[in-house]
Amino acid sequence: MNTGKSIREIRINPIIPTESVLVATDRGLRPRKEEERIPHDPRDHVDNCPFCKGNEDATPPTLIALPDEENWEIRIVQNLFPMLGRDSDQGDLSFGLQQVMDGYGHHEVIIDHDRHGMTIHEMSVEHLGLLLGVYRQRMEEMYASDTRIKYVLVFKNFGVAAGASINHTHSQLIALPIIPGNLHSEVEQSHNHYRKFNQCIFCSLIDEALTFDATLYNRDSGEVRRRIDVGQYVVERGERFIAIKPFASRYEWEVHILPLQHQSDFTSATDVDFADFARVLKRTMQRLDKVLNGAQYNYYFHSVPRGDTFPDCAASFHWHLEICPRTGIPAGFELGSGLYVSTVSPEDAAAQLREALE
Ligand SMILES: [Zn+2]
Ligand SMILES: [Zn+2]
Ligand SMILES: [Zn+2]
Repeated sequence: MNTGKSIREIRINPIIPTESVLVATDRGLRPRKEEERIPHDPRDHVDNCPFCKGNEDATPPTLIALPDEENWEIRIVQNLFPMLGRDSDQGDLSFGLQQVMDGYGHHEVIIDHDRHGMTIHEMSVEHLGLLLGVYRQRMEEMYASDTRIKYVLVFKNFGVAAGASINHTHSQLIALPIIPGNLHSEVEQSHNHYRKFNQCIFCSLIDEALTFDATLYNRDSGEVRRRIDVGQYVVERGERFIAIKPFASRYEWEVHILPLQHQSDFTSATDVDFADFARVLKRTMQRLDKVLNGAQYNYYFHSVPRGDTFPDCAASFHWHLEICPRTGIPAGFELGSGLYVSTVSPEDAAAQLREALE
């Protein structure tokens, strides 16, 4: 669905105000090349795939297998080419303005499913619940094992455009000695908001998304200036979770999933929470797959960081999953300005996603 109305406006991310997006929906303005769609891989098993059953020798040893090593459906292994590793004897080095930190950390691969061509939207809700439980377990274990770990990032790359180097469905977990910049900004800005308004900004955004509509009146004449259909950003709603298309987001089809009730830490979500989250995730991914005709995407979890950098953000930060489908390659304008271009309005994107499923 396209409302036909052309939009050209710069929208400010309400959580990180230094981040903005240029929404320019005139088709002729499309500045980027469309990514090729990936065909769905129907294969259950591929002989030379290191993540397929029977090829366990091709990966580093198993750390965790569920339900057991022989009949595993989910398997965690060390990354063969870790981005971060054990302590080196180099230590931290500084020269002038050049600061270097030892690339210390952990990097693991979570093989999401034993079947090769399986996608998130095809997995059963039960399986997804199990996968979320594994994410939670490994995050907890990482934090517990090492106080130097400041953040455990769980993410997934799916499709070549999203940087996936192995087709077999998998997620990754990286335990970092720093808090990633984008999360740092979110935590800091939402804390500032909390100090001013005594409210979690994410909770306020959810309340706004669940408000049906709002009308702005002209101060002098009392005439209607603009009618805003606020509820139009909701993509999927469960009992405990909601999927929202942000009003200003870098990627055209970006969707965020958040707990409806305030919760700062992903690891405090229960199995009952995960059962509902799994359903909302599956349906959201089904919608994206349908509208994009095979979505290539990254997703990652943002949860309140541990440690003493942000000691009191339990009330101001609200954990969430960010799903970023990749439909174009950021070009010079985006890289140079930090301003991402959306040629689909977030309102249209949300409407198309809502209409994709009953
Ligand atoms: Zn495979
Ligand atoms: Zn909240
Ligand atoms: Zn975030």
